[in-house]
Amino acid sequence: MSVEEVITTKYYAFKLKHGLTKEAFADLPFLLENPKGVTPTLDQTKSSIAKLANLQLAFYDCCPKSCFCYATNPSLDKCPTCSHPRWKHGG
Ligand SMILES: [Zn+2]
Repeated sequence: MSVEEVITTKYYAFKLKHGLTKEAFADLPFLLENPKGVTPTLDQTKSSIAKLANLQLAFYDCCPKSCFCYATNPSLDKCPTCSHPRWKHGG
C-alpha cells in the first residue's frame, strides 16, 4: 500500500468513526498534517477504498423508514416490519 493509499484510508476511517459530513471530510486536509500533500475528495476516497478492498458497488431497495433491506428477501412487495409498500403506487 502506498503512502497516499494509507493516508486516504486513515481519512476515511476517521470519517466513519466520527460520522463526519462530506463538508467536514473536505476540511480534514486543513486540520491534519499531510506530508505528501494528498487531499482526496470523498468520492475519490470511496473509489480508492473500494479498489483496495476489491469491492463491487451494489444497490438494494430499502424501506424508506430504514427498517428493512429487500436484499435479504427480494420477492417481498412491502416492508415486513412496518408494512410500508416497496413500490410507489402507479410508478
Ligand atoms: Zn419499514
